[in-house]
Amino acid sequence: SLSIGIVGLPNVGKSTLFNALTKNDALAANYPFATIEPNVGIVGVPDPRLDGLAKVFGSAKIIPATIEFVDIAGIVKGASEGQGLGNKFLANIRDTDAICQVIRAFNDPDVTHVDGETDPLRDIETINTELILADLQTIEKAIPRLEKEVKLKKDKDAIAVLDEVRKAEAILNEGRTAFGAGLDRVLLRELHLLTAKPFLYVFNLDDEELGDETLRAKLRDLVAPAEAIFLSAKIESELIELPDDEALELLQSMGQEESGLAQLVRVGFDTLGLQTYLTAGPKEARAWTIKKGATAPEAAGVIHSDFQRGFIKAEIVSYADLIAEGSVPSARSAGKARMEGKDYVMRDGDVVEFRFNV
Ligand code: GDP
Repeated sequence: SLSIGIVGLPNVGKSTLFNALTKNDALAANYPFATIEPNVGIVGVPDPRLDGLAKVFGSAKIIPATIEFVDIAGIVKGASEGQGLGNKFLANIRDTDAICQVIRAFNDPDVTHVDGETDPLRDIETINTELILADLQTIEKAIPRLEKEVKLKKDKDAIAVLDEVRKAEAILNEGRTAFGAGLDRVLLRELHLLTAKPFLYVFNLDDEELGDETLRAKLRDLVAPAEAIFLSAKIESELIELPDDEALELLQSMGQEESGLAQLVRVGFDTLGLQTYLTAGPKEARAWTIKKGATAPEAAGVIHSDFQRGFIKAEIVSYADLIAEGSVPSARSAGKARMEGKDYVMRDGDVVEFRFNV
């Protein structure tokens, strides 16, 4: 599965958040190896629709989509120059598909900040500077090779890549990230640039600040167009210890509807460019992960490659229609079940049954 690297300066609440994420996994029973390595956790994507489906189909089990979170230690000033765990840090982060920056916004005199006072903007700039410097090193090494390739091959693709890499170099030299500037990820792919990965930001707030819309708007502006999530890692680690109803009560008392962890997983999934479709039967109600824009045969291939090869058509009912009609046969009688062919682009919340040749 695709993975999100959690990065941030020391003492900002990364481990607290990561532990809450992985322990929170109410679905861990389905994933006996939920914690693959000490710093890697597989987390189920919360989806209330699965409960709805399980009711309609009498499913014995619910299997959610998952994403992987990796707690990446070691970013400090100078990481791109090999300071601290510099090189290991860069290698670990290169392997992830998106970057989640945890930014300290809480004030606590008992928790030292490596750079003094709490200052979200300064911390974002510290981290981005290290990622940008690492990317500039990558680009410096790559440009002579790309120039040689263009000279030898003179083909359009090589020229387009070199152009985009030069554009990236200029952007990075301005202190901006490749993702933030909206550069072409496909053209830049072979360079594995850190700042070309999708970013999302978690602001770790004091619990009294959680409902502060002015502060939220200010922090959101700092990181747009990246997504921002606001939570208190400390509260999150308390929430996971509570029964569901008490957890919800505590959240609501702070003006929140959904836990920060659930938001993080949901937004993270979206940031990775993923969506789900649903299948259900007496055995299980299940969410399957596909890329946004996947066609019906590609979606079938996620279940089994034979399903994709032998794809004939897909019978699709939207989740909302299925719940409104109460069952697939009723949805069929009401004309709410559609037969879709191989060019159909899957929509979020499609409940699907594939027809295929074996
Ligand atoms: P890491 O170094 O980024 O992994 O940070 P940790 O998760 O180890 O947290 C560092 C310290 O900050 C610990 O003492 C935590 O208890 C504390 N901490 C983490 N999150 C919060 C928070 O939301 N509020 C407060 N006041 N303290 C926190």
